[in-house]
Amino acid sequence: MDEPSHSFLLSGCFPLLDEPQKAMLGALVTDDKIRRVVYCIGYNSLSNDSLPDVVWDWKGPLHINFLLWRLIGNSLPINSLRFKRHLTLIACCPRCCHEENTIHAFRDCDFVKAVWNSIIPSSASASFFCIDLKDWCTSNLTSSLLHFGNVHWSLVFGIAIDAIWRCRNKLIFDNEETTCRSLCAEIEARSKCTVDAFQQQVNSSGPSALPLSGPICWFPPYLDWIKLNTGGAFSPVKLLAGCGGVVRDHFGAFVFNFANKIGLCSIIQAELWGILLGLRLLLQRGFLKVCLETDSASSLHLLRSGCAPPHPCASLVNQIRLLIPQFLHFHCSHIFLGLLSLL
Ligand SMILES: [Zn+2]
Repeated sequence: MDEPSHSFLLSGCFPLLDEPQKAMLGALVTDDKIRRVVYCIGYNSLSNDSLPDVVWDWKGPLHINFLLWRLIGNSLPINSLRFKRHLTLIACCPRCCHEENTIHAFRDCDFVKAVWNSIIPSSASASFFCIDLKDWCTSNLTSSLLHFGNVHWSLVFGIAIDAIWRCRNKLIFDNEETTCRSLCAEIEARSKCTVDAFQQQVNSSGPSALPLSGPICWFPPYLDWIKLNTGGAFSPVKLLAGCGGVVRDHFGAFVFNFANKIGLCSIIQAELWGILLGLRLLLQRGFLKVCLETDSASSLHLLRSGCAPPHPCASLVNQIRLLIPQFLHFHCSHIFLGLLSLL
């Protein structure tokens, strides 16, 4: 590779600098090793110029933007990479004997191929499996003409990437198998859910805002308030439920988190356990201005309306409702599923 000129790279790395500032910076970077690093960063940023835009312009759950960014950068911990770093003894795909590189994990493995073949629009199928990773991501994330049902293909593509990654991780780390059919159904359901979430956000800006509609991105709480995000999960394979939460301050800075194994219970009970344990910890630590966010609309409904003793969640709901008056200020709202994985 020819080494790009010094002034060319400075312009690329620092486009807002004027000529005298560039001359001053150029004079400062005299050490040869440092200069090589600057060249390298500059050269890479110039050659990948359009890719970050493709990733960050994609409209969907924010954690998928980060996943796509790592996918295009070829930095996700697939087995070949983990093997090189001595984190696993095998570099193979968990489903076949092929080496698991990025494009194999996300597109070329027979299992994943079957998933894509079930969902890709017919007009996209000709070149879908023939192009390299960056072109593949770019063309599918920017296609505005293709659709899956009524949903833009670019949205479905991003969600499918996330679903494939989760499914692969479940197989490797939890030994949980997923069928092609259920993965396709999950992608379709999550795509429709995301479209609905966007629609609700549009509606919520008007006077007819739904009481349980929430933002589709995370915002820090008010000044001096604390935000508690909670969630619950249930594994039908292990018959185990768990809950957890994360607390952040008004800068969005991490304060503390918690996670608990609960045992056998329903998903709503797991969500309520997360809220109860989170609120108890906040009171113990003296946080009295609290904004609670949960992805469980059903839990919020129970907390707001209460439930009678025969209801299986009555005990948890009553315990939470008894805690709430102990806070100086308390606000609760709904956040859409998927965002919590970022928190
Ligand atoms: Zn494979």
